[in-house]
Amino acid sequence: MKFASTRGEAPALGFSATVETGLAPDGGLFLPASLPDLTPHLKDWRGLSYPELAFRFLRFFATDIPELELHGLIRESYDGFRGSDPAPLRRLAPGLQVLELFHGPTLAFKDFALQLLGRLYRRQVRLSGQKITVLGATSGDTGAAAIHGLADQAGIRVFILYPEGRISPLQERQMCCTGAANIFPLAVPGSFDDAQRALKQVFADRGFAARVGLSAVNSINLARILAQSVYYLHAWLALGVKPEEPVRFVVPTGNFGNVFAGWLLTRMGLPGLRFRVATNRNDILYRFFTDGEYHSGGVEPSLAPSMDIQAASNFERLLYYFEGGDPARVRAAMAALARGESYRMPAGAAGAFSASRADDDAIRQRIGEVYREFGYIIDPHTACGFQDLERDGVPTIVLATASPAKFPETIVEATGEEPKDPLLEALKKRMPVGYRCGADAAAIQEFILAQRG
Ligand SMILES: *Cc1c(COP(=O)(O)O)cnc(C)c1O
Repeated sequence: MKFASTRGEAPALGFSATVETGLAPDGGLFLPASLPDLTPHLKDWRGLSYPELAFRFLRFFATDIPELELHGLIRESYDGFRGSDPAPLRRLAPGLQVLELFHGPTLAFKDFALQLLGRLYRRQVRLSGQKITVLGATSGDTGAAAIHGLADQAGIRVFILYPEGRISPLQERQMCCTGAANIFPLAVPGSFDDAQRALKQVFADRGFAARVGLSAVNSINLARILAQSVYYLHAWLALGVKPEEPVRFVVPTGNFGNVFAGWLLTRMGLPGLRFRVATNRNDILYRFFTDGEYHSGGVEPSLAPSMDIQAASNFERLLYYFEGGDPARVRAAMAALARGESYRMPAGAAGAFSASRADDDAIRQRIGEVYREFGYIIDPHTACGFQDLERDGVPTIVLATASPAKFPETIVEATGEEPKDPLLEALKKRMPVGYRCGADAAAIQEFILAQRG
């Protein structure tokens, strides 16, 4: 299988090269050149274990990795999750379930993709003998998950930018307490969007990128998206419904990576899937799916920091499909957005989507309500998913994107209970090691070069 850029001005690549490259050299994002039809396989896939299902799905895409090896990489990736099912469904009420995606090593859904991506990078380094410099920007959880997927790996250095003071103290400790010499968490001033902008500039410098073997772990990396499609498929198979029957996934959303991973399945034989895009007060995507207009605004800190984003990098992937897969139209739309203009959704395009928005008060209220009504504690990101939840008989699955134990302050306020996790308790005893850097390409490049051993 080949992968092509949304902007159509970069050569198509195989799977491994796509993973290694991350952002396409024309500034676009990679997408599969064609999507498989899963319909003939769905019956056989019912009841498969999570890693087995992941293998069956991913082998359509990772066609340049020998099957046995791919199988091994996938099995190892999910071995480190707690419990027998990495993505268990929890039934709260008839027709309402929570998909718990926080049983991986860093207690957030990012582990699903980054455990696998870490192994794909290692394979690449082993095969090519070339060192890789992984650069990412994080709104909290990606950094921790990438670091845990890559700590102490020979030939790989990891630089993670995060907005100083805008991620939770435990998220920061998850990044800064690994003790691994190849890990460089970098606090930068401003918001996540500032960090992400600086990161894109570093990638745009092709000479620098080639010199240090730069690769991206942000959700611009297609391997992350594809790895995440698996848990939607796994949950959908557990429901036992027909492909055209409606099923609603409610997805706490920031960069649009997670929800896009689910939506791709509508183009692979599951047309019944519906997606509720749940934002916090940073509501650009809520506004887009309700008014049809995408126009970036400023970012405000919220109780759900991993969603404090107003420039959703995966939006370009959706836009590509909305624009009929025409790279020229994608280029024009992205150029207009870069000039500060807005993007209007083509008529009728929003079909599978609805949206909600929750400010901080609403987040606290939803956490309290869900606790009182179901005796179940949700984290502040998941809480956005419970905002204005439709109860119309359509089977609904709310994605629980992080463990509440990562955000104890908010949970105590809303429920009076303090959620704890032994993994996080152990972190509190360790010495954090972190770095500071300006949120501009030159400063970041200088820092990376200075660490080159
Ligand atoms: C990253 C993250 C999100 C947002 O996911 P996107 O793929 O950026 O939309 C939501 N919740 C948590 C806990 C996260 O870490």
